[in-house]
Amino acid sequence: MMKAVATDGRTLLERPLDRLVGARTAKALEKLDLHTAGDLLRHAPRRYVHRGELVPLSRAVEGESVTVVAHVLGTSMRPMNARRGFLLKVTISDGRHDMSLTFFAKSPRPLAFHESKLQPGTLATFSGTVSSYRGELQLTHPEYQLLEDEGEVDEKDIARPLPLYPAAVNVPTWTIEKAVGSILDQVGPGDIPEPLPEPFRTQHGLLGAFEALVALHRPQTDADWQRGRERMKFEEALILQTVLAQRGHEATAVDSEPRPRRSAGIAAEFDRRLPFDLTEGQVAVGEQISADLASTRPMNRLLQGDVGSGKTIVALRAMLQVVDSGGQAALLAPTEVLAEQHHRSILAMLGDLAAGGMLGGSDIGTRVDLLTGSLGAKAKRSVLGRLAGGETGIIVGTHALISDHVQIPYLSLAVVDEQHRFGVDQRDALRANAGVNLLVMTATPIPRTLAMTVFGDLEVSELTEVPAGRQEVSTTIVPAGRRAWVDRVWERVAEEVADGGRAFIVCPRINPDDEAAGLEASDEEARPPLSTVVETAQMLRDHPALAGIDVGILTGPMSAEEKNSAMAALQSGETPVLVATTVIEVGVDVPDATIMVILDADRFGLSQLHQLRGRIGRGTRPGICLALSWAPEGTVADERLAAFAATRDGFALAEKDLELRREGDVLGASQSGVRSHLRHLEIRKDVRIIEMVRDNAAAYIAEDPTLQEWPGLRAAVDEARRMTETDYLGRS
Ligand code: ADP
Ligand code: MG
Repeated sequence: MMKAVATDGRTLLERPLDRLVGARTAKALEKLDLHTAGDLLRHAPRRYVHRGELVPLSRAVEGESVTVVAHVLGTSMRPMNARRGFLLKVTISDGRHDMSLTFFAKSPRPLAFHESKLQPGTLATFSGTVSSYRGELQLTHPEYQLLEDEGEVDEKDIARPLPLYPAAVNVPTWTIEKAVGSILDQVGPGDIPEPLPEPFRTQHGLLGAFEALVALHRPQTDADWQRGRERMKFEEALILQTVLAQRGHEATAVDSEPRPRRSAGIAAEFDRRLPFDLTEGQVAVGEQISADLASTRPMNRLLQGDVGSGKTIVALRAMLQVVDSGGQAALLAPTEVLAEQHHRSILAMLGDLAAGGMLGGSDIGTRVDLLTGSLGAKAKRSVLGRLAGGETGIIVGTHALISDHVQIPYLSLAVVDEQHRFGVDQRDALRANAGVNLLVMTATPIPRTLAMTVFGDLEVSELTEVPAGRQEVSTTIVPAGRRAWVDRVWERVAEEVADGGRAFIVCPRINPDDEAAGLEASDEEARPPLSTVVETAQMLRDHPALAGIDVGILTGPMSAEEKNSAMAALQSGETPVLVATTVIEVGVDVPDATIMVILDADRFGLSQLHQLRGRIGRGTRPGICLALSWAPEGTVADERLAAFAATRDGFALAEKDLELRREGDVLGASQSGVRSHLRHLEIRKDVRIIEMVRDNAAAYIAEDPTLQEWPGLRAAVDEARRMTETDYLGRS
């Protein structure tokens, strides 16, 4: 088939819409971010309806823009009461529910026009924004298009599903349908690129690229658009999984220096000295990692383990194995607080093993250094020197480690802690030196399909148990509007402190005029402003219940030194109460912390709440988590908190989270890149497709890593990867 190429050299799909559908329509379509013929063809109908089989009005929600198919029941025109002018009220029904349409005008003339078209019994598609007037839902000045009634059209047309497109104000679905139609008339199979290899289409029984578009936009039967959708889902899944497979392949394409475990060395000595038994999971994952490090194939592994499951020890044992045979290891943390804490606790765990080359150090010892952005120039120079000289075996740091000036000549293992806080590009930067083993760790468990989608280029290990003797943490949701309950919260804090405990008080904001980022939407308008660290700390300092108890603060923008001393003062009990933002969310380890109060808990996401709660009950005493909520009963936020209070199992919470979120939000803001590329594939529902296609993708890449044999797929994958650089697979 000939390919339609416009005179300006652009393929038809690349041509701007104004040339194809007229300037006015094109301008309207811009509102939907549709600029080219290709954009428009990819704008698939949201759903399909049949004449006579009506979309329920009952699902209309105030403020939403809807398209409904309904019959006109009746009309009435009258002068307005309070103002000059006239009002036409049209009542429509889908057979079960009624809704009103209102039109206003200065004179009766234009209203009479609508009235004449909307005779009782008329079937039409109505499109507009739902508003509520005196408790009744209505559409004001909706757009509408009359539909022929069953009687007048032939059988075939009745069977034909009516596409309803995602529309916008002044761009009703039929305008889009017409524009799409005029483009479909001008294209043929040769104009639509086909990313799917022929055998793949045959194997899964899929429509071709062009056929699928026709089926989606001009279905003759329901089966048509269903097959069209099916094909698009497979296409999206294949491109995504092939990108992931290719990335994984590239990461492991260069050999890594084998670093087998040695029977006598720092790793063995560390194990000998461990004051506790490793959990079964820690042993098993440790063996997997040890084998990975011993082979010439670079490790590319994700370690998922709930809060407190003991991932740090697993990582440290791997780092020591590498150090034993002359390699260097880097541990990358998302915040300075966490990097410093890791550095401190690694030094403490290693004891004289971390004093390699120093007086009193062990013979087999190594050196553990810290590199963060706020390190002084002189200290930084000496760390860089030791690193470059290979003297430092383990370097702990923030993203300051990923900088051109940092040379780690014998880097053999990079560990990324709390991976969800980093972007893929940062992760990749670390292993830019080909052949580096990579271990990424996350305490935000994600369900399997999501893991396959987001981390599909990694092998996954899991720590499913927490070490024995871990303390209980009880969780109570406290209605924030109830004065007496809230007073009781502060008394509880004082009691814990009197018992030698420490308290975290978490607020969503620092200052009253700060933007609160990354919060869940509010269910209630009539709530007070969000709590702030500054105001809450002041309030607590003045609170009679906490008389004589010092209150510290910890926020992101504080200097590293200030943060350190705030943490130290909490640890020592000098200021046993710490008011903080979610900077304490990840990894912070204060064994004496027994109580946590989360203010405005209804505004935090489930995984964030889970992370926060993981900060308490880490020592010898049980913990108490009190979550203050403004969420009215029955709202999603309320349900989220109920789930949070009901279980401490991070995997169960992750599943619940997925269930409570709308599909579009499943990937979260940090994964919005993926979201915008997935129009048809639903991560939650299309598990079967994703799993099948994953095998296909792996096979293609294993046989032919650059996809020479499949140019169509290669083009689509390259295009997706171009976007990867910015947002495709999740930047945080
Ligand atoms: P996370 O997986 O959340 O990063 P950590 O690695 O910080 O958890 O471990 C939490 C705490 O549990 C640390 O104080 C650590 O020393 C301790 N720990 C780790 N493994 C064990 C074990 N097998 N037995 C007892 N305590 C352990
Ligand atoms: Mg941790």
